[in-house]
Amino acid sequence: SLNEKLEKSFKILKGQGKITEINIAETLKEVRRSLLDADVNFKIAKDFTNRVKEKALGQEVLTAVKPGQLMVKIVHDELAQLMGGEAENINLQGEPAIILMAGLQGSGKTTFSGKLANRLKQKEKKNPLLVACDIYRPAAIDQLKVVGEQINVPVYAEPENKNAVKIAEAAIKHAKANGHDVVIVDTAGRLAIDQDMMDEIAAVKKAINPSEILFVVDSMTGQDAVNTAKAFNDLLNFDGVILTKLDGDTRGGAALSIREVVQKPIKFVGTGEKMEALDVFHPSRMADRILGMGDIVSLVEKAQEQFDEEEAKRLQKKLAKDQFSFNDFLKQIQQIKKMGNIKDLASMIPGVGKALKDVDIDDDAFKGIEAIIYSMTPAEREDPTLLSGSRRRRIADGSGTSIQEVNRLIKQFGETRKMMKMISGGGNMRGMMGKMK
Ligand code: GDP
Ligand code: MG
Repeated sequence: SLNEKLEKSFKILKGQGKITEINIAETLKEVRRSLLDADVNFKIAKDFTNRVKEKALGQEVLTAVKPGQLMVKIVHDELAQLMGGEAENINLQGEPAIILMAGLQGSGKTTFSGKLANRLKQKEKKNPLLVACDIYRPAAIDQLKVVGEQINVPVYAEPENKNAVKIAEAAIKHAKANGHDVVIVDTAGRLAIDQDMMDEIAAVKKAINPSEILFVVDSMTGQDAVNTAKAFNDLLNFDGVILTKLDGDTRGGAALSIREVVQKPIKFVGTGEKMEALDVFHPSRMADRILGMGDIVSLVEKAQEQFDEEEAKRLQKKLAKDQFSFNDFLKQIQQIKKMGNIKDLASMIPGVGKALKDVDIDDDAFKGIEAIIYSMTPAEREDPTLLSGSRRRRIADGSGTSIQEVNRLIKQFGETRKMMKMISGGGNMRGMMGKMK
C-alpha cells in the first residue's frame, strides 16, 4: 500500500534531521502515482503533491517518529482537508424544507431519495414526502412507490402529468396541506449531460426554490463523475454531493476530484441498495481509502503503455478464467468511446465487437447497453449468474429498456464470454490443440 511505500522510501531519511527536496522526490512520485491510480484527475494530483511538498519540506523529523510515518500523516491530513472538514448537514429550513435531487440516470437518485427520507424520519422525527418527477419512464413512479412503501413514507405522483415543474409545484402545495415538513423531489436523469434534462432541472429549481440541491453521482464512474459534477454545478450551483455505490471496489478518487473541482461538500455516501445503507461522509475515512488503494499502479511501476499492456493481460486472464464481468465490459466501452472512430475499433475490442454485431455502430449504439449495465448493482455486474428474472425486470425498468433487450444483452455477453475463453487459450482451444498433437 501507499503507507508501506512511503515508509520504505523514507528509510534513507533515518538519521537526517529534516525532510529535504532531494529525499522527498521519490516519495512524492509515489503519492502522485497512487492518486492517479485512485482515479484522481491528473492536474489535481499534481497540485496536491506540490502542496504536500510545501508542507513536508523543512519539517523536523523527531527521533520518536519515523520520517515515513510523518509523511503518511502529512499526506493523509492533506487529503482529508482537501475533501472538506467534518461532515456538513442538510439545510432543513423552510416550511416545508425542499430538497431537490439532480444527477444522471442510474446514479442512485431514487434510492438515495428513499434513504434520506428514511433517515430524516428516523433520526430527526420528520414527516417527509417523496415526489416523483421522473416523468419519462412509467416504471420510475413505481420504483419510487416501492421505496416509499419500504420506509413507510408517502409518495406524491401524477402519472398522467408530463410536466415536471407542475408536478413539483403541486407536490409542495400537497405537502403544506398535509403537514409534511420535508419534501424530497426525485427527478429524471439521462445517460449523459443533455440539454433537455438540464433545462428541465433548472426550471424545477426556479419554480420550487429548494433549500437544498443535492447532486448524486455514481462513484464507480471515476473521471466522468468530475465532468458531470461540473456541468450540474455550473447550472444549478448545488449545495452538496452524494457519492453512491461506495460498497463496490471503488477507488475513492472521484471524491477528491469532485470536491476540488466544484468546491462543494460531499455530504453522504451510499454503501448498498438497502434503505439503511447510507453513511455520513467522513473525509478522514475516505483519505484512508485512497491511501490504501495506492499499491496497484506502484506495483506495476511502468510507463503508461506498459500499464495498458498489463491491463490487457489482466483482461485476458479474466477472460480465460471466465471472470470477465459487466464492469470490464463497461470499461471497454468507455475506452472505445474515448478513442473515437468507433466503427474501426469496436470489432477489435474483446467482448464488445460481438455484442454490437447487430447494431448500427455510432455513439448511440452504446446507450442502451450502458443504461442496462448502469442499472445493475455492482454485485450483479461482477457476477451475471445473479441475474434472476425479477432482477432482470428491475434492470429493464431502471434502464428504460425492455426485458427482451436486457435478456439479449445478457445472452450475448454470455456467448462472448464463452468465445473469449476459447480464444484466450485458457479452455477448450488449448485442449483441442493438445489432442491434435
Ligand atoms: P437513478 O436512476 O438515479 O434514480 O438511480 P437508482 O436509484 O434507480 O439506482 C440505480 C441502481 O443502482 C439501482 O439498481 C440501485 O439499487 C443501485 N444503487 C443505488 N445506490 C446504490 C449504492 O449505494 N450501492 C449499491 N450497491 N447499489 C446502489
Ligand atoms: Mg430514478
